Amino acid sequence: MKKIQVHERFKEDWVQVLTHIANLFFEDSKLYETVEDPDLSVHFQYKKENNTYTTACQLEVDDKVYKSEYTIHYETEGVVREQNIRMKRALSHVLLDVLEQYTGMKQQWGILTGVRPTKLYHKLRKQGLGREKIAEVLKRDFRISDEKIALMESIVERQLVAIPDLDDIGKEISIYIGVPFCPTKCAYCTFPAYAIGHNRKKGTVASFLDGLHIEMREIGKWLKENDIKVTSIYWGGGTPTSIEAEEMDALYKTMVESFPDVENIREITVEAGRPDTITPEKLEVLKKWGIDRISVNPQSYMDETLKAIGRHHTVQETIDKFWLARKAGMYNINMDLIIGLPNEGVSELEHSLNETEKLQPESLTVHTLSFKRASEMTQNKEKYKVADRQTVMQMMQLAENWTRNNGYYPYYLYRQKNILGNLENVGYSKPGEESIYNILIMEEVQTILGIGCGASSKFVNPETGKITQYFNPKDPAQYILSFEEATQKKIAMLHDLYNVQLKQ
Ligand code: SF4
Repeated sequence: MKKIQVHERFKEDWVQVLTHIANLFFEDSKLYETVEDPDLSVHFQYKKENNTYTTACQLEVDDKVYKSEYTIHYETEGVVREQNIRMKRALSHVLLDVLEQYTGMKQQWGILTGVRPTKLYHKLRKQGLGREKIAEVLKRDFRISDEKIALMESIVERQLVAIPDLDDIGKEISIYIGVPFCPTKCAYCTFPAYAIGHNRKKGTVASFLDGLHIEMREIGKWLKENDIKVTSIYWGGGTPTSIEAEEMDALYKTMVESFPDVENIREITVEAGRPDTITPEKLEVLKKWGIDRISVNPQSYMDETLKAIGRHHTVQETIDKFWLARKAGMYNINMDLIIGLPNEGVSELEHSLNETEKLQPESLTVHTLSFKRASEMTQNKEKYKVADRQTVMQMMQLAENWTRNNGYYPYYLYRQKNILGNLENVGYSKPGEESIYNILIMEEVQTILGIGCGASSKFVNPETGKITQYFNPKDPAQYILSFEEATQKKIAMLHDLYNVQLKQ
């Protein structure tokens, strides 16, 4: 943490953006107008003349001075909001530059602090800009490195192969269904994941499932009546295979009966993330209802790590359950790995990748550990020893090389706050095995309806791209009390959205 004194009085949203930039270098930094014993002292200058924005920054530390200047000219004047964004960017440029000089760290994503870099790429593409022009803008306006621009280019290219009608898919919707139970809670987890044993005893599991059936039927009825096509369905949570095989069977029956034209849905995924929840009976149920994609998540192939993060299953169990699923006829299996888990470095990741090579899942999602505020790991950070930035970057590079050598291509990416090394999470797949849902949720090109616990709905206006969100409660006890109201609310929101479309 650093106390950074800024000698200018900035608007609150400017301070927020500049704090984000400072945090790329020093965790939990704060900007102050006046503070005793600041660690760093920064002076800014800025002006806007016609459509030209000029900024300068000077950082003084230990009798040394680091300076940066930046000028950008825009062709158009832009509305007030746009002008504010431009100035924030111009200030971010100079702060990033002086902090890079001071720390010797290079920020690969430049001043881009958002979660979805490829969404920005698509936006520029839809404005009619070609590959070279987009690269120029990403470099000039955001200081993104050539390496990350190349990553964005190849992801966007794959996405357009996987979903050729990506620019036109806004009139369809996808559905997310949240089942909030897991055998135990992992230390890094902030998802709605409640220990199933305890909740079953209390009767919460049965009441939650009753509610979920009703919510699916109600939403499905509306979709059928209004002739809305469903692109993809994703069962997440928690771990939706934590419940019994018969309970899964009943849920998928309701899904097939309720949603429109289920046989033509492009993809249905069920997270079977925890290998300790997978049984032959549950795999049979998945096959019976045409579930074509599952996730079996090792996270790491080191038993000590799994123990340290509270996963309560062994590496061998992951491998055994993978083969069980394969033999049961699951031909689209995703596996997740996390870079930077406690006590792991390059050699542990190398081991995990060697094990992955023997399994050859259709897709591999490589996450970088992120310290989410509410997780056990963040709250007891001192208990966990994690790799430094340099090592995390080496690990990321190793994973990237491995995927290339094994015939996987990156097809989606997202970033999170407090992610180790300010890197990203990247989904890789064999060609043709990209997850449709993952692309749609990342690029925010269509409405995703959230059903069940902790499910967030994003209503995307296909004409304007405007997004309205609605959150179902995370806690199953709360869900049971409020799901009827939540269902009606979402139906009303759907109605508004599609009426808008019909009128246009
Ligand atoms: S399996 Fe996934 S959802 Fe469940 S506790 Fe672990 S990280 Fe959270």
